[in-house]
Amino acid sequence: MIYDAFFSDALTRLREERRYRVFADIERIAGRFPHAIWHSPDGPRNVVLWCSNDYLGMGQHPKVIGAMVETATRMGTGAGGTRNISGTSHPLVELERELADLHGKEAALLFTSGYVSNETGISTIARLLPNCLILSDAYNHNSMIEGVRQSGCEKKIFRHNDLAHLEELLRAAGQRPKFIVFESIYSMDGDVSPIAAICDLAERYGALTYLDEVHAVGMYGARGAGIAERDGTMARVDVIEGTLGKAFGCFGGYIAGGAKLIDAVRSYAPGFIFTTSLPPAVCAAAAASIRHLKTSHWERDRHQERVARAKAILTAAQLPIMPSATHIIPIAVGDPEKCKAASDLLLAEHGIYIQPINFPTVPKGTERLRITPTPYHDDALIDALAEALVDVWERLGLPLKSRAMAAE
Ligand code: PLP
Repeated sequence: MIYDAFFSDALTRLREERRYRVFADIERIAGRFPHAIWHSPDGPRNVVLWCSNDYLGMGQHPKVIGAMVETATRMGTGAGGTRNISGTSHPLVELERELADLHGKEAALLFTSGYVSNETGISTIARLLPNCLILSDAYNHNSMIEGVRQSGCEKKIFRHNDLAHLEELLRAAGQRPKFIVFESIYSMDGDVSPIAAICDLAERYGALTYLDEVHAVGMYGARGAGIAERDGTMARVDVIEGTLGKAFGCFGGYIAGGAKLIDAVRSYAPGFIFTTSLPPAVCAAAAASIRHLKTSHWERDRHQERVARAKAILTAAQLPIMPSATHIIPIAVGDPEKCKAASDLLLAEHGIYIQPINFPTVPKGTERLRITPTPYHDDALIDALAEALVDVWERLGLPLKSRAMAAE
């Protein structure tokens, strides 16, 4: 049997569906972010990153790099195995304390990524609740969907951010344990969920709440704990999940919540128990980043100011920016090939890297470019981005907004 034939057939199917993905070979330059080197087929070239989820540029912060280097030098590289077999490194213990404090919870538990924390966190919590019904927002991230699926529990999907639908499902569920899983910022549209209203419903119908703050931690709230902190609802959410891989500039994921819940997940979650824990150097770097962002407002303020400027300039250039209440700026393309072509032209001819966002990450027909300004994108970079986008839009025959619409 020729096994390779199965794989090449699978790849052909992806190409036919215009879903085959190509990744750019990028080398970031610490200290010069968002400038980077693109290892193009014709050799290295300087480019500007406009799609990094290192939203605040903390991946190049001297305190964060310093903590990582110092800890690796002192303690070595790897964690040496799972926590059950090899014990827990001291920087990891300190990081979990830092995270619990950040979210005002009794305890926190670290996982090897935000993906794993959702997948194993949601499935383990739900399995520990007898006859649990999971209520999941229709736009939840794949890692949450996998967590729901792996729990084996009954699930109901509520329409995105639709409180009336959620209430209808809660009412119909009766007295059994109910577990609401949702996000604060939905990362492809940049919209925000009504956390307080969802907590109202959870309290009225006796449900447990689980909030993914992956695209908000570090960036919102007085100490960078996320949208729930900003909106004053953090204490009302039972479990808060986050990543260390985006605005904190490092790697790893976590959940924070009540001591008993966290201890139970620690004791039952396969995705926690059976995998090597994060290296001490990564934990120390993440803790340094969190600590810094608890007190430093410069990154958050400058980030929001840069986002506002980028939105204003791109809107004035009549580009079809999709409405977004946050730092995420999606620009509608609506066609997978043109979306990929726009990204290719931006990179090859303008030295601007923006990954195309196609199905299945977003629904077919809503393909887009997703722009993420950081504190380090200055006025000149924003202006150059607008000019490059207009050039690409014109060359691909993509529609610009009329002046009247752009002014709305
Ligand atoms: N949750 C959401 C909403 C995400 O968008 C992502 C990833 O991008 C994750 C979780 C996974 O986080 P991580 O990248 O740390 O695995």
